Amino acid sequence: MLHPHGNTLVDRTVDPARSTQLRESFTDHTTVTLDQTLLFDFQNLARGVYSPLDGFMGRNDFLKVVNDVTLESGVPWPIPVVLDIETELADETEPGERLGLRAPDGTPVGVVDVDSVYRYSQAETCERLFGTTDPDHPGVRAMENKAPFLVGGSIKAFADALAREGRHDLSPRETRVLFGQRGWETVVGFQTRNVPHRAHEYLQKSALEHVDGLFVQPKIGQKKPGDYTDAAILAGYETLLEEYYPAELVTLAMFKSRMMYAGPREALFDALVRKNYGCTHFIVGRDHAGVADYYDDFEAQQLFDAIGDIGIEPLYYHYAFYCSACDGIVSEKVCPHDSSSHVEPSGTALRHTLSGGERPPPELMRPEVAETVLNIDEVFVE
Ligand SMILES: [Zn+2]
Repeated sequence: MLHPHGNTLVDRTVDPARSTQLRESFTDHTTVTLDQTLLFDFQNLARGVYSPLDGFMGRNDFLKVVNDVTLESGVPWPIPVVLDIETELADETEPGERLGLRAPDGTPVGVVDVDSVYRYSQAETCERLFGTTDPDHPGVRAMENKAPFLVGGSIKAFADALAREGRHDLSPRETRVLFGQRGWETVVGFQTRNVPHRAHEYLQKSALEHVDGLFVQPKIGQKKPGDYTDAAILAGYETLLEEYYPAELVTLAMFKSRMMYAGPREALFDALVRKNYGCTHFIVGRDHAGVADYYDDFEAQQLFDAIGDIGIEPLYYHYAFYCSACDGIVSEKVCPHDSSSHVEPSGTALRHTLSGGERPPPELMRPEVAETVLNIDEVFVE
């Protein structure tokens, strides 16, 4: 199996004995309450999902990532993982101090040992990350809601802050063991933010022809209004896998994070995270992690090419659709017919159909998947 990114699978969980000690001194520290997205980042740092990162990024790593898509050490990394704090707290926080961290409900989850406190330019950061400062871009909007200072430093997590949330909540340590037990030497990762349609299935199964296992990992967490809810995506996949996939060749797990809509950079991020989970290959779709028309369809591919070998192989796929002449799901590479025979599984159109309580055509979405999704209380983010 592949080495984790940066070669070491990070573990920032403290053992229970040490945890008692840390907990007892917790109230001595100023504390920061994390929102849900930051809590996910904290958990991912602790479990090694973001290896080699062992904490929130300090100033040097942050600037290097934003400007050059690498950490200060030279290891490729495309997305800042940062903890933002308000000016008053920044004024009274010095490197060398320890801050306590709380979950959104106030529960202590761990600490950060501060090594830098710095101000950053939101506009410059957005320009580099998203290629735009347009407030209509959801990634820009999220950045604008952040506080003006960032605090960097390694973290320590209380073991119970990482409690498993359901059977699809697996850490990289666990998936690596699982893939090994299943005898998978090659594993392809699939990132998604959608209820599965037939073209997704086509991509996954095309890739699975070449590797030992498939790791389907929907991104769970903050999305924009109109996107599918986490519950709808997971239920849709549970049904699809049960009915149409060989169980011994597929693992379904959550990636607790959020969509950043950072296009090519997010595609690279998604690949590196899956490398840490133990994947050897990663499916990069057209306009991966895109939104509106901020990115070109093949920009992600260009970024992967520019970065070079990252230790996980990106697999690029042509756009897939239903062709009535071929009578099946095909891609533009293998279908000779013109567009009058093609029915595209447009995400927007499928969402529109489902939101009206209707089932999409079976050529585009498995009826069992549609049925499952339509039985969920909240299918879309409001
Ligand atoms: Zn055709």
